[in-house]
Amino acid sequence: MRSKGIFSSQKGPDTGPFRTGLTLILPVILLVITFGTGPDPAHKRPPALSFSTEGLRQGGVARVELRTDQWVRSVKGRFLEKEVFFFESGGDGKRTFRTLVGTDLSTRPGLHIFEVMLDGENGSGRRHFYSVVVTEGGYEVERLTLPEAMVKPGAGVLKRIEMEKKTVERVVNNPSKERFWSGPFIMPVDGRITSGFGLKRILNGRPGSVHSGLDIRAPVGKEVLASNRARVALTGELYFTGKTVILDHGLGLFTLYCHLSEIRVEEGDVVDKASVIGLAGSTGRTTGPHLHWGVYLNGSRVNPADLVTVTEAAERDTGAVVTGAASG
Ligand SMILES: [Zn+2]
Repeated sequence: MRSKGIFSSQKGPDTGPFRTGLTLILPVILLVITFGTGPDPAHKRPPALSFSTEGLRQGGVARVELRTDQWVRSVKGRFLEKEVFFFESGGDGKRTFRTLVGTDLSTRPGLHIFEVMLDGENGSGRRHFYSVVVTEGGYEVERLTLPEAMVKPGAGVLKRIEMEKKTVERVVNNPSKERFWSGPFIMPVDGRITSGFGLKRILNGRPGSVHSGLDIRAPVGKEVLASNRARVALTGELYFTGKTVILDHGLGLFTLYCHLSEIRVEEGDVVDKASVIGLAGSTGRTTGPHLHWGVYLNGSRVNPADLVTVTEAAERDTGAVVTGAASG
């Protein structure tokens, strides 16, 4: 019986790195920095950091668990130059903090440093460093021939595209500190995947953008569901993605729904998992009706399919996942 998953809070013997689905990441001794007012023995021993995958594939998602037997007030993380938000999920005598992290499609393969900052009493604290391997994504290449006007937008359009890109970046880099999501993320529509995540497109012989989401076939008017509970962070009509909704699930996790024929929510609304946020369509730059579904995690574009499987696996491992572990 599987009982010790990353989101588990059950009691039982700790079998260390061999716990279900987790790989212990050992700290690297780069330097240890103590900050604040003085010696706090609570932070001398590095906490155990575990990942649900041995290496993180480019564009991949991993569950992360941090365990310390000492009292700490809060935990912060930093990975790939972005803040990582942990949420507390203890209950077995140790302090356990969990989160999801991702790497961007364009993250350089190789070793990257995952930094952990523990805050103790009186503002004292300590930083610990762990090395995490990022592996090649190995995504497919697709060659397309399109009318030149579609491939090379005019100057006026370029300005609009640039502005819209900045708006989206601003939204996904300002996450809610409240965690809205719990349990597994769901597919927003049922349908065949027509274009996978990470696909490199060669447009008219020139390298185009890398496909940073999943295309799911969906007829115009089909209901599109919120993948998990969230606050609506953005609604609007954008050049490439047409009628678009971005949901903020909290702690750095966002989902993006594109080419909608109709938007059924407003910015600021809090939507439940599986509630209807809009209808599928073919607005923006598309070759036919489908839902483009994207996920941002700590500012990285990650594989939506990974988000579903990783959070489903967490639920299988524990039975209860994160539903009982609300953020503060
Ligand atoms: Zn797409």
